[in-house]
Amino acid sequence: MSSRRLSRSQNIIPIHYDVHLTTDLDSGQFCGSVKIDLIIKQHDQTCIKLDASHLIIDLSSISLILISSLTKLECTVETNDLNEILEIRLLNEKTFSFDIPYRLIINSFSGHITTQNQIGFYRSTVEILSYNDNNSNETCVIKKHYGITQMSPTHCRRVFPCFDEPSLRATFDLTLDIPRHLQALSNMPQLYSQDNLLNSGTKRIHFQRTPSMPTFLLCFVIGEFDMIKAEPVERLNKDNGLSPIELTAYTLPGRKHEATFALNCAHKALHYYADLFQIDYPMSKLDLVAVPDLFYPAMEDWALILFKEEEMLINEDHAVSIQYRNVCQSVTHEIAHQWFGNLVSIHWWNDVYVVEGFAKWFEYLATDYIVPEYNVFSEFFSTQFVRYFDYCINILHNEADDIDEKDFSFEGFIYSKGSCLMRMLHLFVGQTDFLDSIRLYLQRYSYRTATAIDFWACVEEITKLPIKKLVHSWCTKKSYPVVQVKMIGYDETTGTYDLELKQMSFCRGHDQEKKPIDKKISCHCIKTSDLICDTKHNIDLYQSIDNNDNDENWIIPITILNNQSNYCLTKYLMTKNQEIIHININSSLSIEEQNNDNEPLIKKRRCLLLTSNYFKLNICSGGPYRVFYSSDMLEKLIQAIIKQELNIFDRFNLENDMYALSMGGFTSLVDYLHLLLNAYMNELDDELVWKDIESNIIRIGTLLEYDKQLYDFYRKFVIFFHQNLYQRIGLISNNNEDESVARSRLRCFLLVILGTIGYDPTIISNAREQLLIYLNDPSVTVLWPICAIVAHHASESDLNNLFKLWEQCPRRDDRLRCAYGLSYVQESSQIERVLNLFTINNSTNNNSIRLHERIECYKGFCLSKQGRYYYQRYIEDNWLLLRTNYNDEYLEALIRETFGYFSTKDEALRIEEFFLSYETFEQKYKINFKETPSTPCTRIAVHLCLDDNELLTINKNNLSSPPIYNHHHHHHSIIPNKVKEVASIIAHTTRTRAALLERDHDDLLAFFQSDSFSISSPTSNASSQILSINTTNIISSSSSITTTTSGNKRKRRVSSLNTSSSSPPVRNLLASDTSA
Ligand SMILES: [Zn+2]
Repeated sequence: MSSRRLSRSQNIIPIHYDVHLTTDLDSGQFCGSVKIDLIIKQHDQTCIKLDASHLIIDLSSISLILISSLTKLECTVETNDLNEILEIRLLNEKTFSFDIPYRLIINSFSGHITTQNQIGFYRSTVEILSYNDNNSNETCVIKKHYGITQMSPTHCRRVFPCFDEPSLRATFDLTLDIPRHLQALSNMPQLYSQDNLLNSGTKRIHFQRTPSMPTFLLCFVIGEFDMIKAEPVERLNKDNGLSPIELTAYTLPGRKHEATFALNCAHKALHYYADLFQIDYPMSKLDLVAVPDLFYPAMEDWALILFKEEEMLINEDHAVSIQYRNVCQSVTHEIAHQWFGNLVSIHWWNDVYVVEGFAKWFEYLATDYIVPEYNVFSEFFSTQFVRYFDYCINILHNEADDIDEKDFSFEGFIYSKGSCLMRMLHLFVGQTDFLDSIRLYLQRYSYRTATAIDFWACVEEITKLPIKKLVHSWCTKKSYPVVQVKMIGYDETTGTYDLELKQMSFCRGHDQEKKPIDKKISCHCIKTSDLICDTKHNIDLYQSIDNNDNDENWIIPITILNNQSNYCLTKYLMTKNQEIIHININSSLSIEEQNNDNEPLIKKRRCLLLTSNYFKLNICSGGPYRVFYSSDMLEKLIQAIIKQELNIFDRFNLENDMYALSMGGFTSLVDYLHLLLNAYMNELDDELVWKDIESNIIRIGTLLEYDKQLYDFYRKFVIFFHQNLYQRIGLISNNNEDESVARSRLRCFLLVILGTIGYDPTIISNAREQLLIYLNDPSVTVLWPICAIVAHHASESDLNNLFKLWEQCPRRDDRLRCAYGLSYVQESSQIERVLNLFTINNSTNNNSIRLHERIECYKGFCLSKQGRYYYQRYIEDNWLLLRTNYNDEYLEALIRETFGYFSTKDEALRIEEFFLSYETFEQKYKINFKETPSTPCTRIAVHLCLDDNELLTINKNNLSSPPIYNHHHHHHSIIPNKVKEVASIIAHTTRTRAALLERDHDDLLAFFQSDSFSISSPTSNASSQILSINTTNIISSSSSITTTTSGNKRKRRVSSLNTSSSSPPVRNLLASDTSA
């Protein structure tokens, strides 16, 4: 059962399904019949194999008809439960006729509406509070059942026998028999309904025939819903006879008003996408349904999008802006799929990264269009972009031949990988070409399936760039590229700069870099200056790639910005290991101007002094790769930041790259701290850059913590670095009304850093005072930084106060914030107390931290050496319980989050011993190999492999919340493979960190003791330094004053990569500088 290999290429093409289901939500049963018209596309075919799973099929009800003559063919039927296959074979070894339509009829099958997991046809039950009939104030709880389907990826076979493969599209006629008082929705509008069926209290609903589509997009829901309708959405072409799109939102009773925002977003998104793709929305209606339970956050079933309630509904009374943004992103994501994923669907599951990457990237574009004030692109960087790098090192894009492997490809990685690739190409080829490529793809493959390569081929066809090779180079390698760049020459007479570019793998690169780099240009470098900036030349480039070197290289879109222009100076594809490019500012500018159709005359070339030229590669973090600048080039970029010449995305890019390069061993940590000090002390209040800086500062703290002397210096550095920010945004907000969410979030970061790493006494005593306010006034919202700071420095009475707060908090979210803060305790007895508190309460108190909330609530433990030490042991001791309650992905995340900050060789060893060696389990759980396999524990040792039920039995007494259901019924090992992989990566990273600390130790010490920044006194703290800020001589203090005031005047430096935008409203695709 573990390996349900799909029967690909069986050469049977279903044309049409006629499905009739009778459902009984109360009993949890359904039964039905299905007729499938199909043709056979192969000679000598002797059998038909259908997918059917968890169904009881009356084999005698199966018949096969030759449609043309309506003759019934004699056949035998077999089921193979192991492979979930229903096999129909013609009698006497006869073969099917080629290309002739047959009808397969299965007149009777039945199944169970599952309540165990949210796949196939499942039932959700909700309890709704209702007033009694007689208008009294008495309430009662009414249970309502909902029948919902989740066919994707391979669960349609649980609802009716079918050809359950994405490439086999067909039309569907669906008929449902349901209780008369309920509603049923499906992909298509109702055709007609028959009431009083056999007087049995049921009604029969016939839905209109669907367009050709894959089984995984079929969907229906049954239940009692409230609904609101939007204004019908006008069509793109009003002349083509299509009526406007009916747009409706459905919710559980009493919640329809919460769907207004989602409905508005959907309305705008339908317009937006139709306009962008130049193809009308392909269906007559679109329903958004908020269902009580769903396997995914949302599911893009064609014209019937299902959402988890929190992904669609907004209670306008308590909602915060981040919820609006999430809902908008969810809605726009699923609507993008209606074209990209549904109108054209994937051919096989290994291509899902293209469809998901597309929807992910377009959800940002559409959200930015609908609610520009959300600055959604900043969120793109702090999630998708940053994740891409993390994931990239660990996961490789694989062919998913097997259905189990396919599930792996649905992980978060494909979203970040897919969307980063999409964005990189979108920016590089430009708006016009990218949209033309999408239109070509959607038109060419409408109502059909296509592969990822089909999509990239369309981009290639439009742009004439070697896109397929490019994507191949990004999808087949582990790790990601680092581009090392050096200025190797400048010709004053011609104004030509020579840059040497070298690409290497982030994982392997720094090993090679141990050798001194040869300054001489190697003779096989190929000059690529003639390829710059002109797509016509790219045809040659394509050919040159064909007979070009090994597969080791990435094809990297290089973009270069400098202070000579407000727009892209150069863009070209780097294909070689090492290249030299000659940038003649004058000539390349003139090429730019020729190509720039829209505003050729507006942008006049300004003659600046060339000596101060900086070159910024990878404009606006366009591509998910790192740039490693030589020190002279970096120095000029620092000057550019000080002069406010780089936009926020370039500032983020430089900072983010430098941190990664120092942690990856390419440069020293000192270089990163230098950069912070020299370029970012006066950084504006923008969340994107600060959020990244703060998380990097915390992460460096987790490393330096292992050396007391360094850490004491580091504290002072952190205080010094933050003084300007602290002065600007302060400890509390001055005017509550005007303060942006971003700014108050930034203050939270700042407080935590100064209060924990910084030990700032003023902040700590303020936090203690604030905690007392929380205790005395339950109406005040609890801020987690306050709890974290108090916990970090907690005395016995502080801790008691925090515990009291935790028990007293009337609101659950306040309790969670308090719990999160509690995990910042440092002292060993306190850590154990907090861990115990959470565990004990979990089993006794309903109102306590749920298991799934724990990873988040325990994060603070991972940030201190002591916390990690105890938390690691806690996880080891409770592993069986965790294993039972979490799925593999969650455990992987738990280990990744918890163990990421270890930094000694001993710790690396311990991680390996626990996760990678079975002997540890033997000792840990007192497992005895010699015992007879009668107790579950022995079986752990013998097989190291249990299924969920077995694990449940073992841990029955410890369990307090239901297990995470897993739809794979095959066996799980005690340590899932994913966890093993991530543990071995973490052990490796831990050793790297240990080596890094050893290597950089002396440099860091020298840096901290140098005059780079003034550590006034051992008692220095931010608040006291702020008072003396005007008298202290601070680096670039002159510009610190201008920075804070001139932010709004900053020039927007959106490069010309996309100036050729045509009508579709893609607003500032690259960037908007959020300082305004
Ligand atoms: Zn999606």
